Amino acid sequence: MKTTSTHRLESTCTFCSGKGYFQLLLGGSETCNNCKGTGKDR
Ligand SMILES: [Zn+2]
Repeated sequence: MKTTSTHRLESTCTFCSGKGYFQLLLGGSETCNNCKGTGKDR
């Protein structure tokens, strides 16, 4: 029996939404430490 699957993006970093970096309020960006800038979760 299959479980009801949502449109969850597999292997996408939830910290940076798959972008691989964070947009800083003061300007610029910082590499996401969770995915090391790859945008993918491990
Ligand atoms: Zn990330």
